[in-house]
Amino acid sequence: MKRGVSILGASGSVGESTLKILRQFPEEFRLVSFSVHSNLQKAESIAKEFQPDILCISSETVDRTVLGNKIGNTKVLYGSKNLEEIVQEPEIETVVTAVVGASGIRPTVAAIRAGKKIGIANKETLVSCGPYIKTLLENSKSYLVPVDSEHNALFQLLENMKKDSLERIVLTASGGPFRKLPVEDLPKVTIEQALKHPTWNMGPKITIDSAGMINKGLEVIEAHFLFGFSYDKIGVVIHPQSVAHGLVETKDGASFVYASYPDMIFPVAHSLYYPKIVPKVLRSHPATSWGNLEFLEPDLERYPGLALAYEAGRAGGISPSIFNASNEVAVELFLQGKILFTEIPSLIRNVLEKIPNTFPVDLEGYEEADRKARELAFHFSKDKVVHLC
Ligand code: NDP
Ligand code: MG
Repeated sequence: MKRGVSILGASGSVGESTLKILRQFPEEFRLVSFSVHSNLQKAESIAKEFQPDILCISSETVDRTVLGNKIGNTKVLYGSKNLEEIVQEPEIETVVTAVVGASGIRPTVAAIRAGKKIGIANKETLVSCGPYIKTLLENSKSYLVPVDSEHNALFQLLENMKKDSLERIVLTASGGPFRKLPVEDLPKVTIEQALKHPTWNMGPKITIDSAGMINKGLEVIEAHFLFGFSYDKIGVVIHPQSVAHGLVETKDGASFVYASYPDMIFPVAHSLYYPKIVPKVLRSHPATSWGNLEFLEPDLERYPGLALAYEAGRAGGISPSIFNASNEVAVELFLQGKILFTEIPSLIRNVLEKIPNTFPVDLEGYEEADRKARELAFHFSKDKVVHLC
């Protein structure tokens, strides 16, 4: 029997990589359900090609008469609430969470409650409410297989290592397009420049996150919740070639490295096949083609958002949710041309300093903190208090 797959965010970059794997292994997987937010054209073409049972268009504002309630035999649902419905179909084995931002939280919770394996790309879910998700998982047959490339690399390395040999995990980062730009020129960078990632082809939000290494900060928090390492034992190195994705350092001082071509098809295929193994070469990348590999210490003056993420992670409670929500607002404002690139971390710091870390650590508490952080971030950006930092 084919293994059922649901893709939340099938029209995005990770969604595309997932569809590529389904195309490549049609005898193994079947798309049972998927979502897009507002891209009706893509929704229609995916529905026609893969003929799933059900799809959800999560935006509340699209014209529902364009696609109606059926495309062939595929049922069409509307509204974000239905993201929680489409992950629960009994035939689904794996739910790939490839939506962007905190919109991933509620459907991930629904998929955990339904006992699904989760290919988790949507890092914002773990960053925002990691402890809550972990508690839910403890009482469910559901489990997470990370799709974020660094975490997938670490997952594969750690699975094959002895627990008592481990010292530290290390995430690699390309350093983004401004790695060599003089720090004093960072306020002048344009949206187009920030959207040009040197090695990975990704959606706009994560590309901006990567340019200031806030993405790596989110990933440090994600790694903390996925693997249980304390923040002192999670390192970050700049590795501009993006060949090595994760490293595990052992007590004796050695390092184990996972390397592949920088393409999301690797972690996506691994998470879909897991616990089986991917049966054939996806993209060959022998060591002789790697070139010269560099591993460098990140400069925290250039990447203040990375230091801030460690601070928020160590503070715990709802600080990571506030970090995430204010970052989502800041990235949106930057993409609208309303704040400077360097004001993204300043805005996050302002919001973190103003909201007390006293909300309950449950879903409602996280969502309340998220709402407060977004309100305050918009307010700060209007008043330009962000310049104070
Ligand atoms: P994209 O921007 O390319 O795609 C986002 C997807 O989410 C689209 O399908 C979009 O639909 C949908 N979407 C947008 N807004 C909402 C919303 N409010 N509610 C529900 N769905 C929405 O993002 P990426 O694929 O780059 O990233 C997706 C997630 O995966 C992020 O959390 C990111 O951090 C993570 N990730 C991405 C990697 C990558 O290589 N791209 C690598 C590692 C992790 P529509 O097209 O209709 O707008
Ligand atoms: Mg990553």
